Amino acid sequence: MTAALLDRLGPEVVLTGQAAEGFVRDERGLFDGVPAAVVLPRCTEEVALAVRTCAENRIPVVPQGGGTGLVGGAVPVGRGEQVLLNLRRMNRIRAVYAEDFALVAEAGCVLAEVRAAAERADRLFPLSLASEGSCQLGGNLATNAGGLNVVRYGNTRDLVLGLEVVLADGTVWNGLQRLRKDNTGYDVKQLFVGSEGTLGVITAASLRLFPLPRRTSTALLGLVDIKSLVPLLELARRCFDDRVSSLELLPAAGLDLLVRHVPGSRYPMGQRHPWYLLVEASSSTVRGDLDAVMDAFLTTALDSGHAADAVLAVDRADADRLWALRENLSEAQKRAGGTVKHDVSVPLSEVGEFVIAGTRLVHERLPGAQVIALGHVGDGNVHFNVLPSPGQSARDTHLWHRVNEFVHELVARFGGSISAEHGIGLLKREAHAEHADPVRLRLQAAVKQALDPLQIMNPGKVLSQDVTGGKTR
Ligand SMILES: Cc1cc2nc3c(=O)[nH]c(=O)nc-3n(C[C@H](O)[C@H](O)[C@H](O)COP(=O)(O)OP(=O)(O)OC[C@H]3O[C@@H](n4cnc5c(N)ncnc54)[C@H](O)[C@@H]3O)c2cc1C
Repeated sequence: MTAALLDRLGPEVVLTGQAAEGFVRDERGLFDGVPAAVVLPRCTEEVALAVRTCAENRIPVVPQGGGTGLVGGAVPVGRGEQVLLNLRRMNRIRAVYAEDFALVAEAGCVLAEVRAAAERADRLFPLSLASEGSCQLGGNLATNAGGLNVVRYGNTRDLVLGLEVVLADGTVWNGLQRLRKDNTGYDVKQLFVGSEGTLGVITAASLRLFPLPRRTSTALLGLVDIKSLVPLLELARRCFDDRVSSLELLPAAGLDLLVRHVPGSRYPMGQRHPWYLLVEASSSTVRGDLDAVMDAFLTTALDSGHAADAVLAVDRADADRLWALRENLSEAQKRAGGTVKHDVSVPLSEVGEFVIAGTRLVHERLPGAQVIALGHVGDGNVHFNVLPSPGQSARDTHLWHRVNEFVHELVARFGGSISAEHGIGLLKREAHAEHADPVRLRLQAAVKQALDPLQIMNPGKVLSQDVTGGKTR
C-alpha cells in the first residue's frame, strides 16, 4: 500500500520496514500500533504530495509531532494500515516580526525552540508545558494545548494569528497572516486548532507574541484546607490584576509520593499542609514593584486564615525549586505504580467543591484508594488522579473505566468538561460520544465530513466512525 508513496517521494522521505520502527510512542503506554510507513517530509510541498497520494490510494494518515500527547492521538490504529506523517524535519523559524509581535514557525519546531526564538527578539511566546523540550508546535496547535500560563495568556487557540495547513485532499491553504483583526466570515483556522490531526496537517503557524517579562515573583502557599482554594484564587486575581500568570494546585498526597519516590525531593515547609498553591506573577515593565504586590497578597492570604504558611522565592533558582515540586508530580505518580487520570475542568468558583465531592466518591467506591488532585486550578482545570489501593493496578482497564465513569458523571453534574486540555484522541473517544451534547457532536461530525470526506485524516480519533458515519477501521 505504500508503493505509491515511495514512488513519488523516495526512500529519503518514506521509511518502510526496519527503518520505520521506533517512531510509535504513547506517553502513557496504553496504546500501540504499527504504521505501514513513516513519512518524514522536509517542506510543505512534500506534505501535500504525501497527503494527495494517500487520498488517491485511500491510505489513512496519522500526523505526529513530539509524541507527548496523553490520549493516544498520534498512535496509528492497527498493524500496517495507517501511515505516520512525522513533522520533525520541518523545524524552521520562518520569520520573526518583532514590531508586529508575531512569529512564523514550522509545525516541527520544538516548543522550547519557539519560545527561545521569541526571547531572542525580546518577546515572549507564552505557551509553556512541562513537555516543552520535546513537544512540537504542530502538536500544540492540534491539541490546543493549555499549560502553565493560560490564566494570563489563554490557550494555544488564543495565541494563533494564522495557519498553513495541508488539507485532506493535498491542497495547501496558506493562511499565515499576522493580522489582529479579520472578520471576513468563519474563522476557519480555529477549526484546525484542537482538531487532533483529524481535519488536515498543520505545517506552519503565525503566532502571537507578548512583551518579555522583566520581573517575576513566585511563591508557594500552604493551605488550611481545600475550601480556602477559591478565595485564594480570587484574592490572587484581585491583588495582581492581569499580572498573575500561573496558579497551580499541589496536593500533600502528591508531595508524599514525590519525597518517597523522587530522590532529592523535600517538603517545602517545616509543616506538612494538606494542599499547596503555587503562584507566579510577572511584569514586563521595570516600574511598579511586583514584590510589594506579592508581599501584600501573602500578608492578606495569611491574615485571612486561608493560608497557613508561605514560601517566597528569593531568586530564579529558588523559583525553579518550587516549580520542580509541581513538575515532578507526574514522575512521582509513575514511580508509585501509576494513577487513573482525569483532565477535567469545572467553573472556577466550583474547583474546591469538585475536589471535595470527587474525593468523597473515590473513598466510598474504592476503599483504600487515594486522590492526587493537582493542576492548573487558575483555569478551573484539575488533573483529578486516583492512586488505586495496594493490590489494584492503574493499568487495569476495567478499573480505569469504572473510575472514569463516576468521575465523568460528577464532572457533568458540575457543568464541566471531561477533557480540559489534553484532547480526546483514542483514550476519551467513547466518553466524548457519551457526554458531549448531541447537537455539538452532530456539528463536529458535519465539519469532519466537510473537510475530510474520504475519512483519511487520523480516522478513529476524537469521533468514532459510528458518529462520522464512515467505515470502521
Ligand atoms: C510531562 C508532560 C506534561 C504535559 N503538560 C501538559 C500541559 O500542561 N498542558 C497540555 O495541554 N498538555 C500537556 N501535555 C500533553 C502534550 O505535551 C501536549 O498535548 C502537546 O501539545 C502535544 O504535542 P506533541 O508534539 O507531542 O503532539 P503529538 O503527541 O505528537 O500529537 C498530538 C495530537 O496532535 C496531532 N498532530 C501532531 N502534529 C500535528 C500536525 N502538524 N498537524 C495536525 N495534527 C497534528 C496528532 O495526530 C495527535 O492527535 C503534557 C505531556 C507530558 C508528557
